[in-house]
Amino acid sequence: MSLIKNLHQKLIKKEVSAVDLVNQSFKLIEEKDKDLKAFITLTKEEALKEAEKIDKKISQGEEIDLISGLPFALKDNILTKGIKTTAASKILADYYGSYDATVFKKLKEKGAILVGKTNLDEFAMGSSTENSAFFTTKNPYDLERVAGGSSGGSAVAVSSSMAVFALGSDTGGSIREPAAFCGVVGFKPSYGSVSRYGLIPMASSLDVIGPITKTVEDARIIFETIAGKDEFDATSFDLKKEKNSKKEIIIGLDEEFLAEGVAEEIKEKFLSVIKKIEEFGLKIKNIDLTLNPYALSCYYIIMPAEVSANLARYDGLRYSSLKDTNFKNLEDIYFKNRGLGFGKEVRRRILLGTYVLSHGYYDAYYRKAQKVRRLIKEEYEKQFQQVDFIISPTTPTLPFKIGEKISDPLAMYLSDIFTVGANIAGLPAINLPIGFSKSNLPIGLQITAPYKKDFDLLDFSQQIEKLVNF
Ligand code: GLN
Repeated sequence: MSLIKNLHQKLIKKEVSAVDLVNQSFKLIEEKDKDLKAFITLTKEEALKEAEKIDKKISQGEEIDLISGLPFALKDNILTKGIKTTAASKILADYYGSYDATVFKKLKEKGAILVGKTNLDEFAMGSSTENSAFFTTKNPYDLERVAGGSSGGSAVAVSSSMAVFALGSDTGGSIREPAAFCGVVGFKPSYGSVSRYGLIPMASSLDVIGPITKTVEDARIIFETIAGKDEFDATSFDLKKEKNSKKEIIIGLDEEFLAEGVAEEIKEKFLSVIKKIEEFGLKIKNIDLTLNPYALSCYYIIMPAEVSANLARYDGLRYSSLKDTNFKNLEDIYFKNRGLGFGKEVRRRILLGTYVLSHGYYDAYYRKAQKVRRLIKEEYEKQFQQVDFIISPTTPTLPFKIGEKISDPLAMYLSDIFTVGANIAGLPAINLPIGFSKSNLPIGLQITAPYKKDFDLLDFSQQIEKLVNF
């Protein structure tokens, strides 16, 4: 059952008020967030005011939308007018959004209520939220472990019921990976189906905003609310909802996904779901995504290249939050702002990106990665002529210990091995929680669909969700 529909029913039957829901959210935040650290900024006063407005509407017998009165959280790289938007970076520590992101505007128009802005890896670069300049978000199932990243705060807010739903952004897995680590649904839509206007960019050809929720039906409700063409984002489009008339669904599985490096317990759980799917009568077909192993290397060339271009705007003359304004010369301004304002991982990626775009290396790295990107895209297209969906684990490991990978960037980058393919090819992909390890840590399953088949993916995921009965 959809949590959103359930709460909506309670609201219109007046069993609960919007003010109650908001108060309940803040009660949980007060209880839990000192340990979990999911939120950077809270918006209690505004939230209560908005909730009162919704309650007034209900008491006057006005119709309200499905998501009206429901508390939600936004990743702090999504702009909110007059509300702090930091991207978890020192360089934006005192920055207030000067306009609302399209996704936020759409949610507000339907009466959903923002309770706060959530923690992330600085500028969304990371897989654990440990790269946040402020603090590390903890996993609700084990406080010594990471929540995943980069949308760790949003995943935790939903997982521990501090918000009914949240938005994250996904450039290489940042919605699906924390969703897998926190036992919730995380949906990365097709590239362009949701407007990026007002999303602080990381890598513009890969970035997508999407929902993190408790159920697939909730993910669909939020996706339908935020999706669609936006005049402020030229890459955005309206997604058509076609009825899928195909009778037999075929699911593709590449056994390489279960090769070395994947945790035993994840393999076991994954295979038990495959068995259930087969028993249910769906067909599994072995496929060979031979280029998939290159997706990660390709991503770690293209993404930093775009990062280095996108982050050039933080030059110290604009946006800066640094208090020391005693500069010797222009270089000193740059050095102090970019040198002290950016964390280590951000600087690493700017350097890498500048390098692969530089004269003499452009062809060897950037151009080559673009070619590989096209080949990966074509390989997916070819595979999707034989299968409707591709299934894999979402992450190769269980949520890891805080500090375990932070000094080894390559080990951290490997967390994205199953997720980056969908970003490289622009495809919709989802994380579904499928169970727990022996030590009670969540395990996730990823389903990937052809470009623009977001609604088919959501329909199918609902079927799997029922089958798995998480
Ligand atoms: N973990 C990946 C990275 O560090 C993905 C980040 C993202 O999707 N925003 O780049």
